[in-house]
Amino acid sequence: MTEGSEYQKLRSHLAFLRMTAAAEALPGELDHALKQKLTHQGFLERLLSLEVDSVEQRRRAGLLRFAALPSPFTLSDFDFSAQPSVDRKLIDDLATLRFIEDATNVLLIGPPGVGKTMLAVGLGHAAVRAGMRVHYTTAADLAARCHRAAIEGRWATTMRFYAGPRLLIIDEVGYLPLPGEAAAALFQVVSQRYLKGSIALTTNLGIASWGKVFNDDPMIAGAMLDRLLHRSVVLNIDGDSYRMRSHRARAEATRRAVARPKMTPSQPGEEVIT
Ligand code: ADP
Ligand code: MG
Repeated sequence: MTEGSEYQKLRSHLAFLRMTAAAEALPGELDHALKQKLTHQGFLERLLSLEVDSVEQRRRAGLLRFAALPSPFTLSDFDFSAQPSVDRKLIDDLATLRFIEDATNVLLIGPPGVGKTMLAVGLGHAAVRAGMRVHYTTAADLAARCHRAAIEGRWATTMRFYAGPRLLIIDEVGYLPLPGEAAAALFQVVSQRYLKGSIALTTNLGIASWGKVFNDDPMIAGAMLDRLLHRSVVLNIDGDSYRMRSHRARAEATRRAVARPKMTPSQPGEEVIT
């Protein structure tokens, strides 16, 4: 076999195996190997690690798309000094993702603006980075999707969809009351993940008020809380809204600027031109 036809064969093997990154890099890598007098092992290692990197990158990009995380914030963006009620050690421990190994749930409870979504999404990014399947949804979107699925005869598929990810983030439980059918959908999602996959759930309602989410159905609220809390980490975040804090700081700065008396030169000898 001539060198040229060997090269063509090699290209077509790589194409057949869908090793596109390796196929693209092949001429350059052959040149490099020749110039650097690389061993066969050395050459092959470089070529394959290029392919591995590219597959890894594609996989991460796919996981990130599937996760549908609503913001790019990671846990390192969280300003702990602004929210003293959040225990940094606990968040650091969650960031190790051990909680996902034993299907522990994370409940983030607190008023609007205190960083519940940011923390849940931060955990989501950490899990994606670790190569895990994550999916983010709001409770309202989950309910709407389940409603459509019921009408279109795709209930079982949709339930499997929510059972799949290693970490399911359900944001904003309790902002809107969930009608009977929606509550039943949420209950089924929580039940089927029980002891199998983690849920990170955010809510503005203290646990005692959960009946309200479920149209004052204490049975379903109780059964759901039972499953959620059995193996769980609960973060009660109180304190100021971060949004309001920065809004207030801006408003305060504006107010001060407006209220500041007109500067008049007061240095002795300075002329006042009027
Ligand atoms: P919640 O879900 O509790 O209503 P969010 O997580 O949406 O609050 O936070 C509201 C806004 O404030 C977001 O833009 C978020 O990034 C920011 N934020 C909240 N808490 C912090 C914090 N401790 N450090 C940095 N940004 C924060
Ligand atoms: Mg939120």
